[in-house]
Amino acid sequence: EGKALEVDALQVHFPVRKGLFRRVVGYVKAVDGVSLDVPAGETLALVGESGCGKTTAGKALLKLVPSSGGSAHYGEHDLLALSPRQWQPLRRDLQMIFQDPFASLNPRMRVGEILEEGMLALGVEPDMSARSARIDGLLRRVGLDAAMRHRFPHEFSGGQRQRIAIARALAVSPKLIVCDEPTSALDVSVQAQILNLLRELQAEYGLSYLFITHNLAVVDYLAHHVAVMYLGRIVERGRVEEVLRDPRHPYTRMLLDAVPRIETAGLSKRAGAKGDMPSPLNPPKGCHFHPRCAVANDACRTSYPDEVSVSATRVVRCHLVSREG
Ligand code: SF4
Repeated sequence: EGKALEVDALQVHFPVRKGLFRRVVGYVKAVDGVSLDVPAGETLALVGESGCGKTTAGKALLKLVPSSGGSAHYGEHDLLALSPRQWQPLRRDLQMIFQDPFASLNPRMRVGEILEEGMLALGVEPDMSARSARIDGLLRRVGLDAAMRHRFPHEFSGGQRQRIAIARALAVSPKLIVCDEPTSALDVSVQAQILNLLRELQAEYGLSYLFITHNLAVVDYLAHHVAVMYLGRIVERGRVEEVLRDPRHPYTRMLLDAVPRIETAGLSKRAGAKGDMPSPLNPPKGCHFHPRCAVANDACRTSYPDEVSVSATRVVRCHLVSREG
């Protein structure tokens, strides 16, 4: 199967400055060597708790924050190495949908203008009447009324605003969309509608998604592949069925234990996620997860585990997991 995006050893290190002269005294390794692939026409979910670096990784791939190392191949282009001029023609292909659709939509622009802005900037539909017809069609496609183009973002509900943000991304005919927790600010019933819409659009347009979320139920519903991130690194990745059915990394197991199951809700207490993620400013030595890991041993406190391929499609980073076969 083809790859829409191949990320290798992505790093995003932020300088920490102190004192009168703002001297650099260290680095926060928000993303510290992340490798993952987004297969063409499919969804890779990047999951982890807030602060694990998943949003920063997504933004770095679209050059919204500067990366410090690694590569991200989109076709023959390494996105991270492109100059702004080389990047410009690819902006059509690579779009992002954000968690808070209200913050991402300009409150002073009408919905039609919001959709038109990106098309004009990227040279989509130079003909005005064709552009106008496209806007009407897009609004209808995402489940809104074409007449809504004359209204302002504040006149819409959260779910409708996310539909507008999706229409804006679609307006430039993208190939890959980075979705950053697009439903986590919405009511549960609305979440399902937006996830369904994203799934339909993927099938219709052959879109590839890098879907950033903390929610494993969403991963199960939408994604084909999953990469679990902890303190700037991927600790387990593989196909969704295998990772969710048979998690191999203790952190993946902990996340799964924290998912409330309908059949047990109120009857038994779930174990839940134990403790907090340490600060990326000062990560623990050895395996970053060891302070929270119930099965940690001495090796875990001193050395960071290497990647181990446990199957053709699955990679895990844990001292207790051994190579298969
Ligand atoms: Fe736990 Fe050790 Fe595996 Fe880290 S390497 S997840 S501390 S068992």
